Amino acid sequence: MLHEVTPGVLVATSRRMSTTSTIVTDGETALLVDPTWMPDELDSLAAALADRGLSVAGGFATHAHHDHLLWHPGFGPAPRWASVTTERYAASERDGLVENLGSDFPPELVDLMGRVTGAEAIPASSLPHGVDVELVVHDGHAPGHTALWLPRQRVLIAGDMLSDIELPLPFWPDDLPAYLAALDMLAPYADQASLVIPGHGTVGGDAAARLDADRRYLDDVQRRGSSDDPRVRNPGMAEEYAHLQRLVAESSGRAPSDSMGG
Ligand SMILES: [Zn+2]
Repeated sequence: MLHEVTPGVLVATSRRMSTTSTIVTDGETALLVDPTWMPDELDSLAAALADRGLSVAGGFATHAHHDHLLWHPGFGPAPRWASVTTERYAASERDGLVENLGSDFPPELVDLMGRVTGAEAIPASSLPHGVDVELVVHDGHAPGHTALWLPRQRVLIAGDMLSDIELPLPFWPDDLPAYLAALDMLAPYADQASLVIPGHGTVGGDAAARLDADRRYLDDVQRRGSSDDPRVRNPGMAEEYAHLQRLVAESSGRAPSDSMGG
């Protein structure tokens, strides 16, 4: 289930919404980024780490959404980090996040969800040897959303940004300017990246092209009220597309139909 996408970086992909778990390792210890999602997949992930003899030095959650805040008892007691804002939202929105997991999610995993500590940087004790991580904190997609940049490997772990299957989702709060600012902040990393790992989708060598596609989509919807981005046809994306069209129309004070071609 684990694929080594570049030396020292392993990715597992959930059957649910192609959600990715990323493991950064020196062969002995590991940093787990957004381990996810279904209980049996988390069981398998813990078993796969044990099979490889990897001990978990730390965890990191890219943002305060339920599918990015998970953990498993088999990962052990390592500290789990996030941005300061993510920690705050994981606590204040806990009831809603738990609800999103569904009533049949195992109680022990529900209890572990979202137990992150906010930090400006991941402490060295939670990083494998020889691994540097730069945190890129912004408010695109979610307040305090954080991308991880691995400068040595030139890998960008993007969280729920730069997906090849999902549209840009600048929602909750509906903050399009923050999303555009986040893309600007990610652009220099995307330009240098040899690989981008999205929170949902496939690992690719096309980070800069994905970022351009996201800008084009948002720009098209803002300028003419529509987009021909092929991701609109992916599962669940028609609703997100309609939501953005409504958001743009409301912020410009026009009904959605009036904004077409405007
Ligand atoms: Zn998310």
